[in-house]
Amino acid sequence: MSAQILDGKAIAADLREHIKRRVDELRAAGQRPPGLIVVLVGDDAASQVYVRNKQKACEHVGFHSELLRLPAATSQDELLALIDDLNLREDVDGILVQLPLPRHIDEDAVTERILPTKDVDGFHPYNIGRLVLRRPILRPCTPKGVMTMLTQTGIDLVGKDAVIIGQSNIVGRPMFLELLMARCTVTVCHSKTRDLADKLRGADIIVAAVGVPRFVKAEWVKPGAIVIDVGINRLDDGSLCGDVDTAAVTAVASWITPVPGGVGPMTVATLLENTLLAAELHAASDD
Ligand code: NAD
Repeated sequence: MSAQILDGKAIAADLREHIKRRVDELRAAGQRPPGLIVVLVGDDAASQVYVRNKQKACEHVGFHSELLRLPAATSQDELLALIDDLNLREDVDGILVQLPLPRHIDEDAVTERILPTKDVDGFHPYNIGRLVLRRPILRPCTPKGVMTMLTQTGIDLVGKDAVIIGQSNIVGRPMFLELLMARCTVTVCHSKTRDLADKLRGADIIVAAVGVPRFVKAEWVKPGAIVIDVGINRLDDGSLCGDVDTAAVTAVASWITPVPGGVGPMTVATLLENTLLAAELHAASDD
């Protein structure tokens, strides 16, 4: 068996076109375009790449977007004051503060300061709580993007055994909630999990979000499983690889996401989807 490629780049391009058409309709109806503000504190190299991709994607679909660059020495109070201003701006539908933040700034305090209706990252406790209760509005982008990809396989997810490796607040935990909402039976593994390989061998769906290059081995994958590789790891030679041993696992799985070109583009496209949703909800609440 050779797995089919779950082409995140192509699925994300379709999603962006759909969003662009909706923005064109809004403009034609005399409404302002959705507005996203990205805040970057300091000069983390990977973050610079991520925010540039987000900016480009916003421009492509016709959003109003601004990148606010702040020095690494920015105090927490200054950052919170900026968020307060952005919360009040009527032309701003989404606020994204790029993580990680410099160590002297409490990320939780920043996440919680963003108005839940402008929290297009979906990290605010209000939005996570809504996902827990199966009444989501703004959902964390990476897990939601993975669900969009899984839908593309056409496979019925109901009752499937899913195993997630990783329990972070931005990937593993919301991924658990998404798959549970889709009525999978979900196991979440982490660094203290015993017999990880045994748990993976029973999985119909594997989501790897570990941050360790080529961590998932072909011997751990059930023939025909769907394998979603969230990992983005930069190797010494400058190339990127995921958390799955893609070459070997491709021979066993039924579907697999490539890295790059898999989950990464879906995360950015889902951010646009969230910003459009936030804008539509803001417009509806103004009526
Ligand atoms: P994290 O470091 O916060 O979490 C890693 C998780 O892996 C932890 O829960 C840890 O317990 C678990 N883990 C570590 N070693 C393990 C082991 N030996 N066995 C089982 N579990 C183990 O990372 P994160 O922020 O969730 O990101 C994970 C990966 O996904 C990274 O490579 C990151 O760059 C990538 N990422 C990609 C996207 C995207 O859009 N594609 C978005 C976010 C993160």
